[in-house]
Amino acid sequence: MNETLVNMSDADRAEHLRKLIAGEYPDKRGRYGPFGGSYAPETLVTALKRLEQGIHEFLADDELQAELRRELKDWVGRPTALTHARGLSKRWGADVWLKREDLAHTGAHKINNALGQAFLAKKLGAKRVVAETGAGQHGVATAAACARVGIPCTVYMGAVDIERQAPNVDRMYQLGAKVVPVTSGDATLRAAIDEAFRNWVADPAETFYLLGSAVGPHPYPWLVQVLQSVIGTEARAQIIEAVGGLPDIAVACVGGGSNAIGLFHPMLADSGVEMLGIEAGGRGPDLGDNSATLAAGKPGVLHGTYSMLLYDADGQIQETHSVSAGLDYPGVGPEHALLKTIGRVTYQSITDDVALDALRECCAFEGILPAIESSHALAGAREWAKENPGKRILIGLSGRGDKDMPTLSKHMSFRDAAE
Ligand SMILES: *Cc1c(COP(=O)(O)O)cnc(C)c1O
Repeated sequence: MNETLVNMSDADRAEHLRKLIAGEYPDKRGRYGPFGGSYAPETLVTALKRLEQGIHEFLADDELQAELRRELKDWVGRPTALTHARGLSKRWGADVWLKREDLAHTGAHKINNALGQAFLAKKLGAKRVVAETGAGQHGVATAAACARVGIPCTVYMGAVDIERQAPNVDRMYQLGAKVVPVTSGDATLRAAIDEAFRNWVADPAETFYLLGSAVGPHPYPWLVQVLQSVIGTEARAQIIEAVGGLPDIAVACVGGGSNAIGLFHPMLADSGVEMLGIEAGGRGPDLGDNSATLAAGKPGVLHGTYSMLLYDADGQIQETHSVSAGLDYPGVGPEHALLKTIGRVTYQSITDDVALDALRECCAFEGILPAIESSHALAGAREWAKENPGKRILIGLSGRGDKDMPTLSKHMSFRDAAE
């Protein structure tokens, strides 16, 4: 990390946190302290400004807000449940609560963001939506949201990912999306994002770019945080209602960081609530073997934002690895980079094997099949519980594991699972 970040004083850290809580971040330049901003080609500046204006109008308009709330309730199925994890509580010697984004329509938190942005696209008069997808989860959520809102949608997806994620490609087609294979670059998520950006640059007036995580140029990280904060706002009220108090810690997995920021942001002011973000530790700590961006990365610019990144000694963006496709991204949202720098959130990584073990435990003792991404949060919470006995733990269960069955079948034999 560079000098200014390492040498940040306690007073500076406190001031950054105050600004985050007060809504003074992102600032006018889209910055979260030293992070964030907007590194976009000139042609997109107008489109980004228009989007920012649209967000302000949407936030100030009670009727639009009510309309979106209605859709979140009747179509997405919100509020999602807060479940007392009795089996895990007993095993871990803790009081464990699960915020069930796996119960949301299309199976994960991604729909909160996709629906909100599709809704904005329509209000801004866009003629079509473009989106990128890696594992296909954001593509499916976007295809569903665009069908619901009534706007055509094109999803860019790496050719390699299309091979790996065939069922999700079929789901997108069924939901009416056009899926365009991207063969340039690494032919995975990073190339798909580049291609979606290029397509947007070509026609910024009529096209809306529906970005899938709390990354990218301002105002995207902010927009995604606002739309995903429904998770933390609900969970905070639900746990107070259930037990009359707040959790000792909130834990979520971090890919680009959207489900985590959605859980954390509404509780940043609750100083008694510790926060823990869990990244993908993959096969181990070597560069290229994981996607632990905050644990192992350095500051730099990727996809229009200044944040933490994984790159090698030559400055080349690093290929990443994780058993969970949804955590497999070399960057992370700028708000997380600041939250780490000021010490409000702690970030750790969990390896593939440990995450899969936590998945199995959740299946066996809760009757819930979590996504492999979410299982990283479960495993991180379990480790924290060992060090901190008897505490109340709120875990963001970002999605369900049905989509992961091909991976799970490969990693666990039937006999393993039955043991
Ligand atoms: C996409 C995905 C993630 C990772 O994305 P974030 O933006 O970090 O939330 C986590 N869990 C599930 C189930 C996902 O589909």
